[in-house]
Amino acid sequence: MDGFFHQGDLVSVLTTQPLGRALDYKSPEGGCQLGAFVEVPLGPRKVIGVVWGKGRGDYDISKIRSVIRVLDAAPMREEMQTFLTRAADYTLTPLPAMLRLATRAPGLGDPPSMRQIYRLGEGVPPRMTEARTRVLDTLKEYGGLGFTLKELADAADVTSSVVKGLLQSGAVIEEAAPRDVPYPRLDPDLAGKDLTKDQATGSERLISAVRSGSYGTTLLKGVTGSGKTEVYLEAVAACLAQNRQALVLLPEIALTAEFLTRVEARFGAQPAEWHSGVTMTERRRLWRMVGQGGAQLIVGARSALFLPYRDLGLIVVDEEHDTSYKQEDGVLYNARDMAVLRASINAAHVILASATPSLESWVNADSGKYDRIELTSRFGPATMPAMRAIDMRVEDMPATSWISPSLRTAVNTRLERSEQSLLFINRRGYAPVTLCRACGQQVGCDHCDARLVEHRFLKRLVCHQCGESRPIPTTCPSCGAEDRLAPIGPGVERLAEESAALFPDARIAVLSSDLYGSARHLKAQIEMIAAGGADVIIGTQLVAKGHNFPNLTLVGVIDADLGLQGSDLRAAERTFQLMRQVAGRAGRSEVPGEALLQTYQPEHQVIQAILTGEEETFWRAEADERRLAGMPPFGRMAGIVLSSPDIQDVFDLGRAMARQTDPLRAIGADVFGPAPAPIARIRGRHRVRLLVKAAKGAPIQKALAEWSGQFRLKGETRMSIDIDPQGF
Ligand code: ADP
Ligand code: ZN
Repeated sequence: MDGFFHQGDLVSVLTTQPLGRALDYKSPEGGCQLGAFVEVPLGPRKVIGVVWGKGRGDYDISKIRSVIRVLDAAPMREEMQTFLTRAADYTLTPLPAMLRLATRAPGLGDPPSMRQIYRLGEGVPPRMTEARTRVLDTLKEYGGLGFTLKELADAADVTSSVVKGLLQSGAVIEEAAPRDVPYPRLDPDLAGKDLTKDQATGSERLISAVRSGSYGTTLLKGVTGSGKTEVYLEAVAACLAQNRQALVLLPEIALTAEFLTRVEARFGAQPAEWHSGVTMTERRRLWRMVGQGGAQLIVGARSALFLPYRDLGLIVVDEEHDTSYKQEDGVLYNARDMAVLRASINAAHVILASATPSLESWVNADSGKYDRIELTSRFGPATMPAMRAIDMRVEDMPATSWISPSLRTAVNTRLERSEQSLLFINRRGYAPVTLCRACGQQVGCDHCDARLVEHRFLKRLVCHQCGESRPIPTTCPSCGAEDRLAPIGPGVERLAEESAALFPDARIAVLSSDLYGSARHLKAQIEMIAAGGADVIIGTQLVAKGHNFPNLTLVGVIDADLGLQGSDLRAAERTFQLMRQVAGRAGRSEVPGEALLQTYQPEHQVIQAILTGEEETFWRAEADERRLAGMPPFGRMAGIVLSSPDIQDVFDLGRAMARQTDPLRAIGADVFGPAPAPIARIRGRHRVRLLVKAAKGAPIQKALAEWSGQFRLKGETRMSIDIDPQGF
């Protein structure tokens, strides 16, 4: 058998332990397959790993230990090994850390307690308590998914004895975890919607790309509401009809509910979900089913790229420009780039869908590297919203007010017509700054170089960097003055307060990620709004992402200038994307929509581009600027962040690195810095950054590895390398 190792053969096993390289073991009794998941001894411990290849045998054979056992899981496919290896090379991540992404949830070697799950039964408990009600409510809200005992107890915030008590009456039932139950079949032959001419042309091109069975990427660019989802679902149908699997990535879990419903309408059943809101039991089932082909369509978060697909034929990256596709913790990767990498290894097709593509994708489509499909008008009677600036310099309003008279009038008009308005501000909490009026100090985080943000709903000051929070103080932490702390500037909660005062008869709903303990509360809130349960919606970034509120006809942007401040090279791109996306929430059905941008600089070229929607001109100007500066996507960049509790250590190391740059100079790369990182201290660690810039096509990873490998990290110093950093 190909790739099979007989008992006693040397195999090299990669584990998720941070050792750097795979270690040699002897194949166990019965042998093992290449890619098999195995348990091996490591020092005094037993750890799980993957048979990565033939052993090297470059040390004393008699000292080599044996694999303990082969686990009951399908071996990792060779293409998955290739993907992890290349992804590790690209992101300069140690392979064990990459492997961890691919083996995080499978529950390999589960203890028996994980093999039972708990679901809602039909029995009625003789006596209800608050705790029991919470358990039953939790099960009701999650439908049929089921929990392990610990998960259920945690989710309902009860002890496990409460759950066990409910078993007796049959209100909760216990059963074997659905490890190997396939997902309902999706039927690609059911009829889709009648497509418009443009949509049909686009979908035919996608279908033939999928059918070709070879790698390719298509940028599906279409204004919000043009039917991109309908079009790419046809490509999914073509993929499923070929008996291959499809993956749809969404930037936000809150979007999945609407998507699941649409898939069910199109294919007769719901797809499998993969994201942080899915229980571990269910994730284990999905991990196994994906490998066996028992899950045809997966919708999920970026980590779904690391599932062990049997035969992945299509990856859709919806809202491909979204910054949340960039993983900023641990392994630094951009899901969009990883999707392209994975697809190129699997002979799969990639669809990047967006109304406002990233500059990278726009340039790739322009140069012919990606195919491009464009949908220029909204579906049906819906038209693009009219966009207008409100010049804040001439609005007559008090300094502690953020809704201008013009915007107020526009909202009132909508209230009279029973239509919905959305007021958008990209700031969580009540106020971004808490200032002491006695000493002038702003209240900051003890561990980070960041201000604390007042969250009135939580009654706390919160650090958005490290998450630490404390009750809102009445005395100033700097000077001790009583009752002199004042909130400065608006956040989403403060805007809700002003709206309540200005529109006393309106039903006001706030959509901000931190107001909801869980994804399902957020989902319920979104459904409530879509069903018309609110008149004025106050929202953060969260609302920009593809929700469909049919009765929404006005979007008011409170501070259109917010993103334009600062020196981030991507500021213009981000602002353009965000504003166009938010505006796109208005007028999604018959009644035309309007978007009003409150700004102090209506003549700013970015604001002008947003208003006129002349994206071609805007993107060309952006592209030219980056090309001139040799910045991505026309050049390559990497950010090296050094961090340590000791500020001297990081600067010393940074300076040493800046002096010895031979490997980088050899490829013609420039090094800038060290300078304080954009956030100079997080969780008590000081951070400095070096930036490396090289020409497109330069072997930057290899040079970076060689360069950074020359330096020893002293004490608690850490180095993280970010290829293609988001902000620079
Ligand atoms: P996008 O993803 O580009 O924002 P959607 O696919 O969500 O657009 O389409 C917007 C709305 O128009 C959705 O409610 C969708 O069902 C509807 N729609 C789009 N195309 C069609 C079509 N050909 N027939 C019927 N409804 C359509
Ligand atoms: Zn902090």
